[in-house]
Amino acid sequence: MNMNGTNYQTFECGAFGDLSRVMLKDNLAATGMELSLNRLPAGQAIPFVHAHKQNEEVYLFIRGTGTFWIDGQGLQVGEGSAVRVSPPGARTIKASDGEDLCYICIQAQAGSLRQATRDDGFILDRTVDW
Ligand code: ZN
Repeated sequence: MNMNGTNYQTFECGAFGDLSRVMLKDNLAATGMELSLNRLPAGQAIPFVHAHKQNEEVYLFIRGTGTFWIDGQGLQVGEGSAVRVSPPGARTIKASDGEDLCYICIQAQAGSLRQATRDDGFILDRTVDW
């Protein structure tokens, strides 16, 4: 069930094994990033090479193995691999034979991050009764 609150939105994407691609920016009302969950069927490739105008991308591979093609170089990726690509990087992905390749892609404007975990987050004086 999808839920919305004052400070949050949720969206149920379903199991990776059942999806091909789910874009989350609009479903989550995200304002600073685009996110997608992706499953490339075994042996298949994204049928185009692409780049971006302003956004860098981070690909987080969570299942399967494959080849991440970037600027003419093929990188072997699999569960636990993380790849960041600058906007002009020419990229595409192919899943290895025999197993689907599942990954999360996060894109945000390159150079836009002004603070991160330790500079932006802070501990609140609250407790939770689980
Ligand atoms: Zn992209």
